Amino acid sequence: MVGDRVAVGGDGDTMTTPPRRLEGKVALITGAASGIGECTAKLFAEHGAKIIIADIQDELGKAVCDAIGSTNSIYVHCDVTNEDDVKNAIDTAITVYGQLDIMFNNAAVTDAIKPNIIGYEKIEFERVLNINVTGVFLGMKHAARVMVPAQTGSIISTASVASNVGGVATHAYSSAKHAVVGLTKNLAVELGQFGIRVNCLSPYAIATPIAKNYTGLETESFEQWANLAGNLKGVTLKTDDIAKAALFLASDEAKYISGQNLFIDGGFSIVNPSLNFNKFGENL
Ligand code: NAD
Repeated sequence: MVGDRVAVGGDGDTMTTPPRRLEGKVALITGAASGIGECTAKLFAEHGAKIIIADIQDELGKAVCDAIGSTNSIYVHCDVTNEDDVKNAIDTAITVYGQLDIMFNNAAVTDAIKPNIIGYEKIEFERVLNINVTGVFLGMKHAARVMVPAQTGSIISTASVASNVGGVATHAYSSAKHAVVGLTKNLAVELGQFGIRVNCLSPYAIATPIAKNYTGLETESFEQWANLAGNLKGVTLKTDDIAKAALFLASDEAKYISGQNLFIDGGFSIVNPSLNFNKFGENL
């Protein structure tokens, strides 16, 4: 485990593994029953944090809790669009663990791919915005409620490469992820005076349920497809890579970082491959 002294030879030599970076902290993670949230919950716990796992998939959420251990984690049913649920999840952190240091607004959905905007139903657009934007707003609001009096905290939200690049997701999802960045910047300004940092993460494609359902691809073919379109070659993006970025933003190592959208995308969102000077003259 991180932070432990471990034997490295038969002569009594020991070395110290890297220190636990969230020792004594309490983190609430929405959408923690699956994918990025689940992986982050486990990594944060490994680094010494107590975790509130908040999701609507109760069985999966409790299983994550069991895997972490019931002394260090608790599952709370929380639909992020329901303000009472969000308030209750935050209050649980205070009641059970006495504080909230890290709020990770990670839960989201996507609607199905549609051929164009003309047949796009308003109700579908609003459903995605409700979960992906209002849900983040509520998480931020209730985290701020307890963090402002404490004069400390780190609020992180999951955006996406779709927060910057057009044409990689549905209109609702792209709009929502742009909005997450807007909320992040606005709140970073408001909460800076209280010592609270507010950031978001923008991952490229990862083979989690949301992404596999969206594309209709299974893990192996999803990763092949993502790697083909990706900018950085020879590596495959995994949930662990996002969890590590969240760990950095949550930890005191990021103590002066606020208002940022951290891209974990191998450069995908800064490339326009249609005019790549490295490939001048190819295919003429
Ligand atoms: P996932 O499907 O594994 O996890 C999403 C979780 O959110 C699920 O556990 C689900 O139950 C939960 N959730 C959905 N609606 C909820 C609600 N109303 N209240 C509470 N929880 C709810 O997918 P993931 O890839 O781990 O997604 C995590 C985040 O990463 C999302 O914000 C997603 O938009 C973002 N993201 C994912 C990718 C990708 O390719 N996987 C890329 C960029 C951004």
